[in-house]
Amino acid sequence: MTRTLLTARWVVGFGGDAHRVHENGCVLIEADRVAHIGALPDPVPDCPRIDYGEAILSPGFIDLDALSDLDTTILGLDNFPGWKKGRVWPESYVARGPYEMYSAEELAFQKRFAFASLIRNGITTALPIASLFYREWGETVEEFEAAAEAAEALGLRVYLGPAYRTGGQVVDESGTIRAIYDEARGLAGLEEAADFAQRIEGRAEGRIRAMFAPDRIETCTPKLLRRTAAIAAEMGAPVRQHCLQSEIELRLVRDQHGVSPIRFLAENGALASNWLLPHGTNATEEDIALIRDAGAALVHCPLVAARHGGMLRSLPRWLEAGITVGMGTDTWPPDMILNMQLGLMTARLADGHDAIRSEALFDAATLGGARALGRDDIGRLAPGAKADIAVIDLSGALQTPDPIQTLMTSCAGRDVRDVWIDGRRVMADGVIPGSDLVADTARAQAQFDGLVAKYPDRTLGHPPMNEIFEPSYERVTHDRHRP
Ligand SMILES: [Zn+2]
Repeated sequence: MTRTLLTARWVVGFGGDAHRVHENGCVLIEADRVAHIGALPDPVPDCPRIDYGEAILSPGFIDLDALSDLDTTILGLDNFPGWKKGRVWPESYVARGPYEMYSAEELAFQKRFAFASLIRNGITTALPIASLFYREWGETVEEFEAAAEAAEALGLRVYLGPAYRTGGQVVDESGTIRAIYDEARGLAGLEEAADFAQRIEGRAEGRIRAMFAPDRIETCTPKLLRRTAAIAAEMGAPVRQHCLQSEIELRLVRDQHGVSPIRFLAENGALASNWLLPHGTNATEEDIALIRDAGAALVHCPLVAARHGGMLRSLPRWLEAGITVGMGTDTWPPDMILNMQLGLMTARLADGHDAIRSEALFDAATLGGARALGRDDIGRLAPGAKADIAVIDLSGALQTPDPIQTLMTSCAGRDVRDVWIDGRRVMADGVIPGSDLVADTARAQAQFDGLVAKYPDRTLGHPPMNEIFEPSYERVTHDRHRP
């Protein structure tokens, strides 16, 4: 059996009911599991040993809404309103027939690139999310076959399932957004997703599991929700359903069904302990009570919310209600440490500085994510748990006396140095076998630039690029530098 002994200044172990910080601690890995944690065993095992020095050995982060494409939401940063700037399909684009803006190869590459980016940020379990704006309709089984291969090659623990949908949104010249439907297409997407789920469940020694991803609650038909709930419950697979995120979503659900998105889910049997709900930034007291009673989990995505002027109101309130809260990155950069920091800040903006402490966010990114997935073998470092470990280097950080507080004040995803998943060292000193950071980033940028160039096709009135993407300062472009 392969054994490796890791030591560091700080080890975040699990003490049975909560994390516990070991100063000058160690983790002994045996095959895919943690065998021992805490003080150095006596005698010291005769096996390879890595001393990480000034570092935190943390349980790998669990990302329930893990960015898995070249994020187009960053294009909306200063370009609004979104419906005028290519974020909602205009009627003219729908009339000509929406098309795939990436090739199959590009779709496969962006997943592989994204999975490597997640690992670089210490994320060891991921439930991928991507936009459907630039798709012909839903995600394809083909790209998820490629995604499964990429996850297996990189060693990432994933829950996979192509997003499918019965509807979408269109905007007319006056800026009115309405829903459009193709239920047969959505139900066919679900059947393909269910077939894919059966095929991939348990692959890569169990690192690949199935999930279901019905897209956009405001355009899911009741039939799609009910069927998704039934299939996922039978498989014991998680379902992720974005909700309570935007005003448009609330309006569309209310106009069509007369209730809030959460009540709409509940009325269709689509709110249960295997349902993961990203965002929740527009929740009412009634919504929170419904989610609590169903045992569903909130997926807190503070970066994407704050970037667009929103925040959860509030994390302490959701936790006090007894709701399981996990974390999601959802946007670029997929930096869980940044998301924990913003989660702390926005909770304090909402409820005051003493309303929350750092460990609430660290719990959400580890134990909360595991609980949301119904697992007690990840999100913690304890004997018998999976050896999923993020090593965060502190040699360049100004440290507080406490490593979790240091994470909140002094670290970023880029400080992740090594990552272990299932007892395998999938990143060593920032290097991931099979992923060339410089070459892959250049390729990703070229692919993204190609997509950005197609934005006028999908933007209301089809204006030129410089009207969609307003520059910050006046720009003066010179000839390219000659050598
Ligand atoms: Zn989202």
